[in-house]
Amino acid sequence: METLILKVDESIDGQDAIEKAAKIIRDGGLVAFPTETVYGLGGDATNARSARRIYKAKGRPSDNPLIVHIARVEQLAEAAEDIPDVAYELAKTFWPGPLTMILKKQRSIPRNTTGGLDTVAVRLPDNEVARELILQSGRLIAAPSANVSGRPSPTNAKHVYNDLAGKIDAIIDDGDSVVGLESTILDLTSDIPMILRPGVITRADLEQVIGRVGVDSAIISDDESNPKAPGMKYRHYAPKASLVVVEGDAYRVANYINSQVCDLRSEGHKTGVIVAEENAPMYKADIVKSVGSLEHEEEIAHNLYSILREFDNEDIDRIYSESFNDDGIGQAIMNRLLKAAGHRKVNANQESITRIIFVGKNGASRSPMAAAILKSMELNKDYEILSRGILVQFPEPLNPKIEAVLTGNGIEVEDFHAKELSDEDINSTTILFTMEESHKKRIIDKLAKANEGNTFVLSTYVGNELEIPNPYGGSLQLYGLCFESIKKTLEDLVNILDQSRSKEELK
Ligand code: AMP
Ligand code: MG
Repeated sequence: METLILKVDESIDGQDAIEKAAKIIRDGGLVAFPTETVYGLGGDATNARSARRIYKAKGRPSDNPLIVHIARVEQLAEAAEDIPDVAYELAKTFWPGPLTMILKKQRSIPRNTTGGLDTVAVRLPDNEVARELILQSGRLIAAPSANVSGRPSPTNAKHVYNDLAGKIDAIIDDGDSVVGLESTILDLTSDIPMILRPGVITRADLEQVIGRVGVDSAIISDDESNPKAPGMKYRHYAPKASLVVVEGDAYRVANYINSQVCDLRSEGHKTGVIVAEENAPMYKADIVKSVGSLEHEEEIAHNLYSILREFDNEDIDRIYSESFNDDGIGQAIMNRLLKAAGHRKVNANQESITRIIFVGKNGASRSPMAAAILKSMELNKDYEILSRGILVQFPEPLNPKIEAVLTGNGIEVEDFHAKELSDEDINSTTILFTMEESHKKRIIDKLAKANEGNTFVLSTYVGNELEIPNPYGGSLQLYGLCFESIKKTLEDLVNILDQSRSKEELK
């Protein structure tokens, strides 16, 4: 079957695009059409044959019901019966818009459309083309997302074409979907209205209108064994490469992902990462895609599927994604992201730091001093503490003035020769500290495994901004000053390390 691409405002054989599509629907055919959430695959909701064709084209399990789309609130009674007042209150506030209500089914809606259930899902989309199509067809339109089952939902006509060309009669092209994630599904047949699928209309939004609203526990836990929306039990939204979601503090997440990328690269694999715009500079992957700003969650919702699909065109084996805050719209984002990942999730904070490396320019002065001081301090966990130089031409011994200051302060000095920092020194549990910003930059530029997630200026990391003077060529007194400021800064570091240690123990 040839799939017609219908551009809105275009005319085909003397008929305008929507009129043409409406006729296809009336004749029992399938048309993918734009909505504000994602593109839908539409057929006549009252025609059992159309419903069967939809399931077949998508490869969708037949127990996964379709959403019935209406164009006017008055049409609600054509799809549902025993409609409670709250449905009309919600319609007044949120329709047209990304809210789907589950109600008792009208007899005119066949069970093929509702996946065998006595209830029906209804929505009035906020897209004029969609509403016009419904009105001109003279039917209610049943439509799931217009993707092959299991793939990310389509947010433009090209996504639909890639999945369904040759399997459906037509696609109406109306550019990008504004919202980008599927509607919030609210079940109004239970005692307390219950969210079965989170969307950009949040629980708080709904509660403002109708009071208490519950959330199906299957969508907030990792255990999805028995969700109330049949469709939520299937693996969904998945890109071709395997996806892993990494949660934790932003730096730790970046460090973990960067280190995985390096390991995979050494095995010949290419990796992509999905990150918030603000965090993108911390990453060193083969392909880094920014999904939007943390300040604008609706931007992340809008871009997510499209980015998952973009990765399908790249030759990559693995995708890592940062994790996002999971309240409000974030709950919908995390629900889709974790489903796309098949719930593969890692907590980067649990990867504890085991090696601390102080790095200086030549590795024979402030960095071994810092390493020696930290080794002399009491920490409630053992760390491997090293010092390295960015460029070490000779294995220089310790600067004699450093040695004098250290022994003068009762700190033992071991046999020491400077060593150059290399990628072999760094793994996912390593943290690197420099005394100066310019050193940090050079390290990150020079070494594949150093990045903004594991390489820090010491004083910035501890947040005291105390300047650690470069004593090179100065008096013994200046070396003493340097000792004092490093010591003070390391005391703050010990506090931070011990704190994160006790957090780990609490888990
Ligand atoms: P899609 O249109 O692809 O976004 O999928 C529609 C979603 O709505 C699926 O998760 C369905 O399980 C859910 N759904 C549709 N009708 C019902 C219903 N009567 N009861 C519960 N969930 C439903
Ligand atoms: Mg879907």
